[in-house]
Amino acid sequence: MFEKILIANRGEIALRIHRACREMGIRTVAVHSEADANAMHVRLADESVCIGPASSTLSYLNMPAIISAAEVTNADAIHPGYGFLSENAKFVDIVTAHGIKFIGPSADHIRLMGDKIAAKDTMKKFGVPCVPGSDGEVKSLEEAQKIAAEIGYPVIIKASAGGGGRGMKVAESAEKISEAYSSARAESQLAFGDNAVYIEKYLGTPRHIEIQILADGKGNVVHLGERDCSLQRRHQKALEETPSPALKPELRDEIGETVASAVREMGYEGVGTIEFLFENDQFYFIEMNTRLQVEHPVTEMVTGLDLVREQIKVAAGHPLELKQEDITFSGHSIECRITAEDPNTFAASPGPVLDFHAPGGLGVRVDSALYAGYSVPPYYDSLIAKLIVHASNRDECLLRLKRALEEFVVGGIKTTLPLHQALIENEEFKAGDYNIHWLEQFIEEKR
Ligand code: ADP
Repeated sequence: MFEKILIANRGEIALRIHRACREMGIRTVAVHSEADANAMHVRLADESVCIGPASSTLSYLNMPAIISAAEVTNADAIHPGYGFLSENAKFVDIVTAHGIKFIGPSADHIRLMGDKIAAKDTMKKFGVPCVPGSDGEVKSLEEAQKIAAEIGYPVIIKASAGGGGRGMKVAESAEKISEAYSSARAESQLAFGDNAVYIEKYLGTPRHIEIQILADGKGNVVHLGERDCSLQRRHQKALEETPSPALKPELRDEIGETVASAVREMGYEGVGTIEFLFENDQFYFIEMNTRLQVEHPVTEMVTGLDLVREQIKVAAGHPLELKQEDITFSGHSIECRITAEDPNTFAASPGPVLDFHAPGGLGVRVDSALYAGYSVPPYYDSLIAKLIVHASNRDECLLRLKRALEEFVVGGIKTTLPLHQALIENEEFKAGDYNIHWLEQFIEEKR
């Protein structure tokens, strides 16, 4: 097992990883920007190294500084968390070349899944259902028109290199395709330096349902069920739950097995998430994330597994001991992402936290790096806390969530706590009756 792990991240996820290491008897190295010198992840780690100024390009994305920090502290492995360098194949190559273990999949798997056309091809080859569309890249407008006419409008043109919702354009009808095709290509060129695009049927009111997998790269793969992440604003997830209120148990087993078998064929190592759109009981693959996800705790709550611990064990070369029949799902779990934003305008609200009280009690978990006296810096992602609740069924989970939200106090800055409070009182939400557009409509109507 590793003796020391460098955590190349900040905030709640750095803390989350530190906690798993501590319980495994592994020492931790925190890295931090100048702006994060007083951050909780720095305070709790065994050692810490300042890797640059506030701007993340100069610190949390600064590969030479992070590698140097690992070398001077003698770390055996680097855990990237999510975001920052977690899906950067070049970083994995460099880490590996320095004789340090990257806790995650191989650079090749990250590259493969980062290229959406190649990812879709791979999944299709292994029998994973995909959104109907072009067979790979669409190289001309004429080809785009021909495919769109075959699959039927509306269609969506997507950048192969895309991410974060950029490089995607919807064409409602044949008149709109020329504009959508050229603007998706131009946007992708600008954002990613690559103008390869492909076409998919645009689904009207799908849910976003994703499957968590865990693999050891030695042929042992398990799936850990689904997460329903349909509640999104600007393609950013706001609340996630498992099980999905929309999924029949037999469909879970079926898609879980399909995905696990694809991942086994790939020879993949680590945790991963296969994201789907889900409409009329059909799954359509959209992308695979080759890292730990923000919303992983809901899976931990219903399976009783520590995903970071499993990640570290697999990275250290331990074969997965778990078999699919060992995985059981108990009760219901919901996660609310609390951000430092105005709950009505979503304007960022960094600054000093004057008061902080996290809820507790049975079935309540708070993953947060906040403390009273801390000041939320303006430079990074606005996520400040994840409130995760677990109960024996969805109704009880909602009652517990309401109670926990009432107890939560964050003073001095604006947060999205009031948005979550309003959301969970909504009858449609309570009935589990929502899709990927629902939250934006809810916010619009509330204004
Ligand atoms: P990114 O990597 O940029 O996040 P994704 O492929 O994951 O891109 O898609 C992001 C979001 O765009 C999805 O969650 C969904 O809301 C929407 N989307 C993508 N493809 C389709 C599609 N074929 N039909 C309808 N909506 C889609």
